[in-house]
Amino acid sequence: MAEPELVDVVVVGLGVGGEEVAGRLAEAGLTVVGIERDLVGGECPYWGCIPSKMMIRAGNALAEAHRVNELAGSAQVRPDWAPVAKRIREEATDTWDDRVAVDRFTGKGGRFVRGSGRLDGPDRVRVGEQVFQARYGIVLGTGTRPSIPPIDGLAGTPYWTNRQAIEVEELPESLLVLGGGAIGLELAQVFARFGVRVTVIEAADRVLATEEPEASEVAAQALRADGVEIHTGVRAGRVDHDGERFTVHADGAEFTGEKLLVVTGRRAHLEELGLDTVDVDASQRYLPVDGRMHVTEGIWAVGDLAGEGAFTHIAMYQAAIVVADVLDHMRRTKGGPDASGTASVVGGAAGVVSAVGGAMSAGWSTAAPGSVPYADYRALPRVTFTDPEVGAVGLTEQQARERGVNVQIGYADLTSSARGWIHKAGNAGFIKLVADADQGVLIGATSVGPAGGEVLSALVVAVHAAVPISQLRHMIYAYPTFHRAIEDALRSLK
Ligand SMILES: Cc1cc2nc3c(=O)[nH]c(=O)nc-3n(C[C@H](O)[C@H](O)[C@H](O)COP(=O)(O)OP(=O)(O)OC[C@H]3O[C@@H](n4cnc5c(N)ncnc54)[C@H](O)[C@@H]3O)c2cc1C
Repeated sequence: MAEPELVDVVVVGLGVGGEEVAGRLAEAGLTVVGIERDLVGGECPYWGCIPSKMMIRAGNALAEAHRVNELAGSAQVRPDWAPVAKRIREEATDTWDDRVAVDRFTGKGGRFVRGSGRLDGPDRVRVGEQVFQARYGIVLGTGTRPSIPPIDGLAGTPYWTNRQAIEVEELPESLLVLGGGAIGLELAQVFARFGVRVTVIEAADRVLATEEPEASEVAAQALRADGVEIHTGVRAGRVDHDGERFTVHADGAEFTGEKLLVVTGRRAHLEELGLDTVDVDASQRYLPVDGRMHVTEGIWAVGDLAGEGAFTHIAMYQAAIVVADVLDHMRRTKGGPDASGTASVVGGAAGVVSAVGGAMSAGWSTAAPGSVPYADYRALPRVTFTDPEVGAVGLTEQQARERGVNVQIGYADLTSSARGWIHKAGNAGFIKLVADADQGVLIGATSVGPAGGEVLSALVVAVHAAVPISQLRHMIYAYPTFHRAIEDALRSLK
């Protein structure tokens, strides 16, 4: 067996979260080994956020062109997928090649190892025949993969996950989408706008089931207007593929399509990580962490696999906490630069200071040992980039009521706001506020509309900073903006 090689930190999985942690610790001068089995950067740049938002940008351009007919004369629109596929291939993903990302990491001083990493006892990670011993810590950032439901017949078929949907060069004539969550709806709308006959099949009684019911309603209406067929409360029981077409059998109905996209959620594959070698239960859906992303002594987790929200902004937020906490831990560990000064800090104190500065710029200081704050998810923002966009932060009305909060609700329809009325075509949307009447603050909000994700930012500040509602009511809201509907919704709180 190979002798373990002693390094400062090992990061397993260089997706959004892992790459950020590994890069920043390497910049701090620590010897960091980053292990990635697929592409450095992870799901977001290659099969997730970035290419899907390029697709959405293109679909929205088509939709806006159609609105010319209602607003500004006439426009003839002939959709063509080729420029979209080209842009994804060439601008977003370098044809799914991560050379630039690998260079970015090694350029910061990190050491890159391509392969699958797995824990091999406390402080150790194995990649094939190589074993690394981590002096200060191991960070797991292995993300999630699509969770494929155990539907009879599905496993043997050439169904798509988000990866094939993003990589597609030629669009199918028809597409069945299993799952009416954020990813399912975003892709369904894009493909429909490019002329694909799209059918969404959702087991819950509404699409976007975790968001406010009003948001589900507006999103479903918008997709239907784009020609998407939506079936809710329908559970797929069997899938057949006859070599050319898929048939989904669901509650007595049959749906057929040339392709089948399965977007029914994602799952962390904890069983692959060797967690048993460090006495951590691998049978759970996600890896439990404390507020500083600790899994167990010397091991941190970052990103989707921690189960606090599958978003790039969560992975980045957690990465800042992990970086600060690993550096804090290092300083307090025997051998750390603040202890005996014998740590293998390549960049010396200056390197560590610059990393601490980075952590501070992310919102906290590691100046005093143990001062790294805990993660706070009260104001977790999320955006579904359909048209209209569905932005939400904090608790929904139902979640707040289930927690026994003395709830007040405020609501304003965007179409009847000044800006919504001016906007006319494509103006569907609303602001919904969830307030804690006892505390006099907002604890949740939803912003649906043409710029719903952008309007959300004001609501995120309100929830995050617990701005008193009385203060929000005294704010001046620019006229005629979409965000001015927040003022209307505040006025209607009851
Ligand atoms: C279609 C789609 C659209 C999305 N859109 C958005 C959006 O608009 N906004 C948003 O905030 N989020 C979006 N997301 C979610 C976002 O992509 C994820 O939240 C983000 O990528 C999570 O980062 P991560 O570092 O936790 O994991 P990942 O990005 O999944 O990276 C994990 C990495 O670990 C590697 N790995 C796994 N196991 C091992 C191992 N044993 N050894 C070595 N390497 C390993 C994987 O190959 C992968 O590269 C979208 C996701 C999808 C699928």
